[in-house]
Amino acid sequence: MRGLSDIGTIKDILHRHGFTFSKALGQNFLINPSVCPRMAELSGAGEGVGVIEIGPGIGVLTNELCQLADKVVAVELDKRLIPVLGETLAEYSNIKVINADVLELDLNKLIEDELSGMEVVICANLPYYITSPVIMKLLEDKLPIAAITVMVQKEAAQRICAPVGSRESGAVTVSVNYYAEPSLQFHVSAGSFMPAPKVDSAVIRLDVRKEPPVKTDEKKFFKVVKAAFSQRRKVISNSLSSGLKMSKDEINGVLSAANVPPNARAEKLSLNDFAAIAGNLRD
Ligand code: SAM
Repeated sequence: MRGLSDIGTIKDILHRHGFTFSKALGQNFLINPSVCPRMAELSGAGEGVGVIEIGPGIGVLTNELCQLADKVVAVELDKRLIPVLGETLAEYSNIKVINADVLELDLNKLIEDELSGMEVVICANLPYYITSPVIMKLLEDKLPIAAITVMVQKEAAQRICAPVGSRESGAVTVSVNYYAEPSLQFHVSAGSFMPAPKVDSAVIRLDVRKEPPVKTDEKKFFKVVKAAFSQRRKVISNSLSSGLKMSKDEINGVLSAANVPPNARAEKLSLNDFAAIAGNLRD
């Protein structure tokens, strides 16, 4: 169904299905008609491409993706939206809607079963209450995907896309950069949604790396990143000592072997610094 971002059309559909928004599921539906075509274009959806969408809502972005991609698999947790999607996507034969929690799904299997032989990308207006867990699952599951194009809260977008080693960076910046090259694409005002959220949003694209930019023991690397940023105002020797439960002397030995000054702050460190610290930690 075209013109789905028209507010009158949305209200009519939702009214006929007796649908009420769930705040707990992060349901803010797009009503700005320029956003979805732009997102779908940016996502890389096209010939030979299969798309996974998370949280299709009433299918406004799904419609655009179905027009561009070979196939779209949309994962929606709210079962009340399944009949709505049946109506709004009725004209497409290249859509599969799955009623599931994306955090519980085996996405490698889903790609194997539904999108084999296609280049796969992910595109979504994410439910904001699970932005980081979803993005980290998509990256940590090591899916055979080329890119992730998602709408997130503006502050989350700025944090994820900040340069590693800058004041604005955090654990999520370092973690995302290990797996992908993030870029902020465009901003979307709160008024583009119904109901309007309290904050503005932004669309980011993560181009998934074929190889990580540093060689490291991943388990130790992410343990160090988490500990380093757990008390970001503290110097690195203090935050690692408490986060990794190691004595100050031990930590200072590790930092010296890794060539990282003990009084540095986590936000100033590079991916190489984190890898060097992880490489000098005992098992
Ligand atoms: N794509 C639609 C749009 O742009 O108008 C809706 C986006 S809305 C921000 C987020 C959607 O994600 C809702 O439809 C919500 O029901 C769904 N959702 C929430 N938690 C989910 C989960 N764990 N797994 C899959 N979908 C989820």
